[in-house]
Amino acid sequence: MTSPRFVIIGAGLAGAKTAESLRAKGFNGQVTIVGDEEQLPYERPPLSKDYLVGNAARDSLYVHDAEWYSDQRVELRTGIRATRIDRTSRRVELSDGAGLGYDKLLLATGASPRLLPDTAGVHYLRRIEDSDRLKRLFTTAASLIVVGGGWIGLEAAAAARQAGLAATVVEALELPLLPALGRDVATVFADLHRQHGVDLRLGIQVEHVGNDGQGTRVRLADGSVLEADAVVAGIGAVPNTGLAEACGLRVDNGVVVDANLRTSDPDIFAAGDVASVYHPLLGRHLRVEHWASALKQPAAAAASMLDKDEAYDELPYFYTDQYDLGMEFLGTIDGHDRVVFRGDLPGREFIAFWLKNNRVRAGMNVNIWDVTGPIKALIRAGRPVHPDRLADPGIPLDQVATA
Ligand SMILES: Cc1cc2nc3c(=O)[nH]c(=O)nc-3n(C[C@H](O)[C@H](O)[C@H](O)COP(=O)(O)OP(=O)(O)OC[C@H]3O[C@@H](n4cnc5c(N)ncnc54)[C@H](O)[C@@H]3O)c2cc1C
Repeated sequence: MTSPRFVIIGAGLAGAKTAESLRAKGFNGQVTIVGDEEQLPYERPPLSKDYLVGNAARDSLYVHDAEWYSDQRVELRTGIRATRIDRTSRRVELSDGAGLGYDKLLLATGASPRLLPDTAGVHYLRRIEDSDRLKRLFTTAASLIVVGGGWIGLEAAAAARQAGLAATVVEALELPLLPALGRDVATVFADLHRQHGVDLRLGIQVEHVGNDGQGTRVRLADGSVLEADAVVAGIGAVPNTGLAEACGLRVDNGVVVDANLRTSDPDIFAAGDVASVYHPLLGRHLRVEHWASALKQPAAAAASMLDKDEAYDELPYFYTDQYDLGMEFLGTIDGHDRVVFRGDLPGREFIAFWLKNNRVRAGMNVNIWDVTGPIKALIRAGRPVHPDRLADPGIPLDQVATA
């Protein structure tokens, strides 16, 4: 009898971690990872932070070194794209003309940057090569325009300032990070960037980006034109669902999976940025494009591939580092009716809580560490809290509930 073969499409964090979990859970069969990048699987967060400003070496990005894959008998096929899934014959077709039979299949194909309509001369930040290109540019350019005031855009602006460039951020909404954080906390980030010399152009659309070889011109909706040596766009990402759609899996803003990371085909699973996962606590599907999901969903996916029941019910978690601000965020802010701050807001050492009906839905610790445990407990408990006690740093977080 031949040993079972598990195939993983996508050699990013979720793909590599699923292979690791399969071995950790005792799977002895064949594991093959197919990835269209030439690199070993790597972590992307440093691409807009330490790696971009030259403070992290390339080797430090890799999830595992090359030996790990051979030691673990994980076959890693890099530089190869999966082009089609045939669910009837259980085969994956590859760009090199080969095919791979599978018993279980994981889709860990991640996401790709959303592109501007005129994209010539515009930089994006998703892959190591993108970060390398921008890093080189930082040594010659004097100015950068960032289109999009989301996480990646703001991190790129912070890196540009750190490298000594003038930076302008153009954001269509009235504040950066507005959908992610809501008005009260988004203001903190707007102030942070202004204080570090970033020119924030808010509430205005980009109409056209043009490059004449000398520099880039960005025309805004009010007719004004900004000029800079380079433009980087961070206007969101779209999940890489093409393979899943083409083979008839359920797709709705990501590959739809249950809490066990199983798709509408019982032998196909999905994890990481590409997966829209049913969350048992929140009672709905969520696609979370963050590092922690790609890191932790694989344990549940691997368990399901091995016919074990291990639901994924972690709260969404995100972190960022910009200038001297480091933060961690837990939960979801949807439907919140109030934000409570605890600590020193002007000094940027505080915790923000998003409440709905006096129940904590999300929490963000800024330059305060080792508090995610109690914040998570508050969100999970779902009990009403006293907002005044919550705001008082003298009262431990496990003593803020009303009863
Ligand atoms: C610049 C940047 C900064 C970030 N910073 C943070 C941060 O500070 N905090 C945070 O929480 N998160 C951050 N993130 C998000 C985090 O990096 C992602 O959530 C994480 O990388 C998702 O991992 P993944 O394995 O699901 O997908 P990916 O890392 O995208 O990996 C998927 C891989 O599959 C490949 N692939 C796609 N289709 C195919 C195919 N058909 N055949 C073969 N291979 C294929 C892709 O090319 C890619 O290599 C950042 C992301 C970026 C880009």
